[in-house]
Amino acid sequence: METTINERVSKILDEHKDYFSSGKTKDIDFRLKQLKVLKGAIKDNEKLILEALDKDLYKSEYEAYASEVGFTLDSIGYVMKNLKSWAKVKKVKTPFFHVGAKSYIYSEPYGTVLIIAPFNYPFQLLIEPLVGAMAAGNSAVLKPSEYTPNVSKVISKIITENFPKEYIRVMEGGREVTSSLINKPFDYIFFTGSVRVGKIVMEAASKNLVPVTLELGGKSPTIVDKEANIAVAAQRIVWGKFLNAGQTCVAPDYILAHRDIKEKLIEEMKNSLNKFYGDDVLRSRDYGRIVNENHLNRLLELIDREKIVAGGNFDIDQLYIEPTILDKVSWDDKVMEDEIFGPILPVIEYESLDNMIKMINSRPKPLSLYVFSENKDIWERIIHSVSFGGGCINDTISHIVSPYLPFGGVGSSGIGTYHGKSSFETFSHRKSIMKKTTKVNLDLIYPPYKEKKVKLIKKILK
Ligand code: NAD
Repeated sequence: METTINERVSKILDEHKDYFSSGKTKDIDFRLKQLKVLKGAIKDNEKLILEALDKDLYKSEYEAYASEVGFTLDSIGYVMKNLKSWAKVKKVKTPFFHVGAKSYIYSEPYGTVLIIAPFNYPFQLLIEPLVGAMAAGNSAVLKPSEYTPNVSKVISKIITENFPKEYIRVMEGGREVTSSLINKPFDYIFFTGSVRVGKIVMEAASKNLVPVTLELGGKSPTIVDKEANIAVAAQRIVWGKFLNAGQTCVAPDYILAHRDIKEKLIEEMKNSLNKFYGDDVLRSRDYGRIVNENHLNRLLELIDREKIVAGGNFDIDQLYIEPTILDKVSWDDKVMEDEIFGPILPVIEYESLDNMIKMINSRPKPLSLYVFSENKDIWERIIHSVSFGGGCINDTISHIVSPYLPFGGVGSSGIGTYHGKSSFETFSHRKSIMKKTTKVNLDLIYPPYKEKKVKLIKKILK
């Protein structure tokens, strides 16, 4: 069985490498044409994609369109508009001692890239990196998550119907398929998923020295200072946390609330929950479901029922967990061990900003961090003293929706960035070239190195 998959994957990779070697994908007009095809195909299949997202994650039409379909359409448009300028050979300065030389940076595609996606935004997290890979002139193999089979099927249909299979191909399947793929000599691996699997991917890639981007997760803190606008903070936290039933990599994982405003914040968050989802959240069409029973059971284990101040209900058959807020949580509670990745929001009270920063810094570097405060000094203090992927002041999640901001983690929350121009850069190798004339030929660099030359070089390089 294993050999069969391995043989199949090797054959596929060879086909892709042959296709790439033909040079077709490097042509800018080809890239633009294919991006247009992709955009058209997504539009043509919009209904199917939205239906699949409904089946796999019970995403509402608004959420599915905004965070998956619309997001990628907009991104393709942005990339197409800018691609010609990004792909241009860039002339850069040359140090004066290279007399008669000119320097350039060529952006060249890596070749055949492997893109692996998780289940939570199963369409966007596969297609958004693909847009970058295509823009940069690569061929690609896509591995969707096996937890969202309906979305996986639609993506496979879209790609198969619109692109030569040696150019872009979808490999559906479970862990055995991913394991085989990551052990092959692709030219680049772009992985989005958990820290645990990220390590497996990087280890496998290291055997062939394949460069990687790892878009991982972690616990993203949300700090609510005593000078925050509490009503707005509550609304924006509840929105960012319970979107997609909390299964968002950049969702606020936990709240650090200043002692003076904690009670008010919790009250306001309850109001926001009620405003967003009504009295019976189970019946709200705007609230999603947990991807499967394993994840649901894992999440239920994290709820300390004595600490519930909102929510707490669940329905295993419907893969439903009510938006749940836990109060009086301490750093040692089970819910604080790993990324929650579900609709459970623990609140930890703090008094001293310095101690709180120390606690965050004693843990793995977060993917995101959010600060709610009207005090600009607090913003800057936190931005400068905590290392994290990216974040927002007075909002959650929005930083990832801008093509002008590179998105990615740091430390255990990931390696590398993408979105907008950064996607193009991620999938391009920057090839540095110095073009020299033969008309000038400085004797200084050649042996024999007499004392005069030593003196001269010391004057130049200091
Ligand atoms: P996951 O790591 O379990 O799975 C991701 C992919 O890896 C899937 O395609 C799966 O098939 C594959 N995989 C799983 N186990 C494997 C193994 N042993 N060997 C090889 N491949 C394997 O992640 P998930 O549960 O689908 O998604 C949730 C995680 O993803 C969370 O940690 C979340 O924070 C993270 N995430 C990060 C981002 C980001 O952009 N940084 C975005 C979304 C999700």
